[in-house]
Amino acid sequence: MVADSPRRGMKTAQLIGSRQSFNIGKILCIGRNYADHIKELGNETPGRPIIFMKPSSSVIGEGEEIVIPAYSSDCHHEAELALLIGTGGKDIPEQEALSCLAGYGVAIDLTLRDVQAELKKKGLPWEIAKGFDTACPLSAFVPAGSVADPQALRIRLSVNGEPRQDASTALMIHRIPELVSYLSSVFTLVPGDLILTGTPAGVGPIKSGDLVVAEISQVGKLSVSVR
Ligand code: MG
Repeated sequence: MVADSPRRGMKTAQLIGSRQSFNIGKILCIGRNYADHIKELGNETPGRPIIFMKPSSSVIGEGEEIVIPAYSSDCHHEAELALLIGTGGKDIPEQEALSCLAGYGVAIDLTLRDVQAELKKKGLPWEIAKGFDTACPLSAFVPAGSVADPQALRIRLSVNGEPRQDASTALMIHRIPELVSYLSSVFTLVPGDLILTGTPAGVGPIKSGDLVVAEISQVGKLSVSVR
């Protein structure tokens, strides 16, 4: 028996009601996918989805702590519907996209807004603003079959009980089938990959001691605190 497995530290996604767990692969994130959030940050509406990635090492689970890196003083919450890929593929047609999903979950795309703004200004990549350790709080996943319409879910986030975000996944600009199909034309999707589908309006700062709760109807609830 190997005591110090090379798999140690690997992050997994749990599917509720199933013994199946998935080793988390790529975390593909969509930027600017809700019109009201684009407006609040003064961004332009993209023709194609804006894509960035977080490493799996950034994932934390229910009840774990967010650690804001010392190089930032403005960490924002972004509540998002997460998709768990169950069967992957390349060039997945839109009409087959939903059947590739194993489950739906709640994610928070933590963003160091000050660092990101600086990087954007210089035309540099966003990874240190989006992919740091603890930057991706993630719930367990409900089976995809239990959600009748993933584009009709209420998505909410509160900080210390105070409502900050409250919208519907109906407001996505690029909808789930289009996202899966487009992403799979660039990246071969494999089981365990995640897609974070973008955040609605109401993003804002969190600080040490805060309790952040994100909730999506029919999907679940995720509570994390800030160290
Ligand atoms: Mg986001």
